Amino acid sequence: MPSPRPVSLTALALGAALLLSAVPAVAAAEVMPHLQALQRIADRNGGNRAHGTRGYAESVAYVKQALDRAGFRTQLRHFSHDGKDGYNLIADWPGGDPNHVLLSGAHLDSVPMGPGINDNGSGSAAVLTTALQVAKAKLKPERHLRFAWWGAEELGMAGSADYVKNLSTADRKAIDLYLNLDQAGSRNLQQYLVVKDAKNGETAAFQAFENWFGARGLATFDIPLDSSDTQSFGDAGIPSSGFSSGVSDCLHSACDNLANVDPATQATSTNALIGVVWQFATKTPATPATTSSPVRS
Ligand SMILES: [Zn+2]
Repeated sequence: MPSPRPVSLTALALGAALLLSAVPAVAAAEVMPHLQALQRIADRNGGNRAHGTRGYAESVAYVKQALDRAGFRTQLRHFSHDGKDGYNLIADWPGGDPNHVLLSGAHLDSVPMGPGINDNGSGSAAVLTTALQVAKAKLKPERHLRFAWWGAEELGMAGSADYVKNLSTADRKAIDLYLNLDQAGSRNLQQYLVVKDAKNGETAAFQAFENWFGARGLATFDIPLDSSDTQSFGDAGIPSSGFSSGVSDCLHSACDNLANVDPATQATSTNALIGVVWQFATKTPATPATTSSPVRS
């Protein structure tokens, strides 16, 4: 431990200012409890959290309660798919420009064959943790920050497709950028798979994730838009990006449980989302679709 040195008042004031604007970082211990909760929900509901089941309803209730307590405005958006009721959970952080929305999301449903802890409790927990960090920091963003947990992704992105379909033209145009996480805590991480939205000419968010991982020496690989809920947004012309930590052997299986998630990777993924949300919470300098070079390092 370094010995204490005298610090001037100016240095103290500067330190405080930096602290207020600093991007937070979370440890695995702040994210994993959400995955433990989702595992318990699956355990008491037949081993899954699939569309139309009690396990899914309890998953939504868990996330919603945490957001409500933190001061978000939450709403459940109902849809029907395969003759069953589905729900998207939408959470708005009060403030920011309603004509410039940064939306971050993850699918909350599992397949019927397993608890879906990596696919996609991990992404859901990362998005929830990011939202809770926004609240903890009492962030006053320039953009309006919205967070979403989609239903029925495993049945063809039904929840996110329904959300996008029901947006008014103005509401759709107000979404500057959609960020998606699908599988964020994979064991035996090889490389981060970063969604490249070639369709919408968007490179700013893609570049931001690439830069975040690159700065930490983490390898990346491009994947196309049609790999998860990003497709619903990209198809509607909304610039999108996001990432995955890769598919595991337990994908869509009963063994996609807590043991299938690496806590360190889960924390890294969460911090990547936090970093990029903090970056795009400010309208400048990182305005999507106008700045950022398409050149990759
Ligand atoms: Zn998934």
